Amino acid sequence: MLHRKFRALLNPLAKLIANLACRVGNMPTIDQLEAQLQNKCYQLETIDAQEKALYQVISKIRASLDLDIIFRTTTKETCKLLHIERIAVYRFFDNWGGEFVGDFEFAEPGWDFGTLGQNTIWNDSYLQEHQGGRYRANECLVVSDIYTAGLSQCHIDILKQFRIRAYATAPIFIGQKLWGVLAAYQHSKPYQWQDQEIQFLSQVANQLGFAVKQAELMARSERKAEDLRLLNEQQEILFKLIADIRESLDLNTLFKTTAREVRKALQTDRVAIFQFDIDSQYNSGEFVAENVLPEYDSAIALKVSDHCFGKQYAARYQQGQVQVISDLSQAGLNRCHVELLENFQVKAQVVVPLIKGVALWGLLCVHQCDRPRIWNSAEINFIKQLAAQFSVALRHADLLSQADSKAEQLDQALQALKQANEKLEELSNLDSLTQISNRRFFDKSLRSEWKRLLRTEKYLSLILLDIDHFKIYNDCYGHLAGDQCLIDITQATRLVLKRSSDVLARYGGEEFTVILPDTDQIGAVKIAEEIRKTVKNLKIPNECMQTDHPYVTISLGIATQIPKAGQSVQDIIRQADQALYQAKAKGRDTVVCAPSQ
Ligand code: GH3
Ligand code: MG
Ligand code: MG
Repeated sequence: MLHRKFRALLNPLAKLIANLACRVGNMPTIDQLEAQLQNKCYQLETIDAQEKALYQVISKIRASLDLDIIFRTTTKETCKLLHIERIAVYRFFDNWGGEFVGDFEFAEPGWDFGTLGQNTIWNDSYLQEHQGGRYRANECLVVSDIYTAGLSQCHIDILKQFRIRAYATAPIFIGQKLWGVLAAYQHSKPYQWQDQEIQFLSQVANQLGFAVKQAELMARSERKAEDLRLLNEQQEILFKLIADIRESLDLNTLFKTTAREVRKALQTDRVAIFQFDIDSQYNSGEFVAENVLPEYDSAIALKVSDHCFGKQYAARYQQGQVQVISDLSQAGLNRCHVELLENFQVKAQVVVPLIKGVALWGLLCVHQCDRPRIWNSAEINFIKQLAAQFSVALRHADLLSQADSKAEQLDQALQALKQANEKLEELSNLDSLTQISNRRFFDKSLRSEWKRLLRTEKYLSLILLDIDHFKIYNDCYGHLAGDQCLIDITQATRLVLKRSSDVLARYGGEEFTVILPDTDQIGAVKIAEEIRKTVKNLKIPNECMQTDHPYVTISLGIATQIPKAGQSVQDIIRQADQALYQAKAKGRDTVVCAPSQ
């Protein structure tokens, strides 16, 4: 544009004069100036175009935070813009060897540029020796033809192996660190690299450095977020388990739940709880609970006896130390310990002590079986916190079992007390001589039957019976014989009564009473008569009596009532007593009914 305007200003004549003047003054001619200007303008246009292209590539690179996409975009766009046969991204390893992590090939159909490509490892001994060599000084390497560039034969051999004929490479830095190389390769023929092309390559490499750094930062923060998420999840499990532990009254269930949850939370292969045998000096014990993936052997209920354990480790565990092993084969454990762990396919483990009170009770073992594993501090803390809670649970369980046995003792004592009370109650209701109910029980029973029949409006009959001339009997045979006579009469009377609700009681001295619920006068008379006859038929001699039939007899008075409000049990007792009095008056050995009320 510029030079066209310029040219338009000069007419041919003026141009001729000017040319002549220049020749005389040894200055560049107008034509020369014009050519130079044209060249500069062309260069400016090229730079402009390349900057635009670079801008496009950069925006595409920056659009992604995924390294694979970044490499793919960079190589493809650069390859297309430079019209080069291959663009590749090479990344250094820590030992300054490296591999290709991104590659784009711009091949004509039918061309095969050999085995170079993504994941190809290329260990350049020169770069390894010089830790990145000239790249470290941020230099680009440019070779137009490997056969004329004065390269060493071994270098040429490697390049030939990848069919590289010409190359230009620019270092990729992340901050101060040489990270890799952006390489442009020409396979089919030598290639004369232009400065702008090298500059372009170098700028893209520069941008790639920023993009990789960003992607790595992003990946790192994603990893951090994932770690945090896991930590959060572990904390949640921990809180839940702590709540379970604090509430749990059953250790076995608690062990099982804990083993399962911890294994899931830490994504390990086995979590097991080991309990030492008491008095074994920590040299033997067994796994009492376990959660293990099915592909590994179970350690549960396996008797473990390790005679070096107690001496070597117990004291440390006792102090609360934790054993963290990332790789069993590198841990330097003694042979017998390694063999023991190999039985359970352990490759890495964390073992924390379980303390009960002040003594080492057992171990919480977290095993990784498929591979060695580096345990991070959050995981170790998680296990430690859990173990601490376990100690609380163990203490709880102990207190609980003490409380249980106390409760059992208490229960037994209560049972004994109850039995004693029952016995006492029974005794307090019994007459010691005749073993039938006493006056106390009679009073209670009569009151309760009275109330019940007051509600149901049914008959209640009461018999009072008294032994005839018992004083004479006592005088005749003695008091002990009198007692036996009382017992015999009681037993005989008892047999007459059939209903469980009938109550025979000793009313006092040689007087007895029978409560007959739901029994009218006719029924009561029948029973009273039967008792009278039964006693008479016992034919207990009373020879001091001056009669024709000198046997012990009884007199009976009956009262029958439907209990009514406003009356009391005393009424029926008084009536029966009066009836009895009449029976005596009538000559004894008889039954008299009180007039019905
Ligand atoms: P009755 O009733 O026929 O009028 O003449 P009784 O001789 O039975 O007269 P009373 O009721 O006055 O006498 C009761 C006697 O019963 C007095 C006592 O010697 C005797 N007795 C009372 N309780 C016992 C006892 O527990 N054992 C003995 N062996 N005798 C007793
Ligand atoms: Mg009497
Ligand atoms: Mg009497």
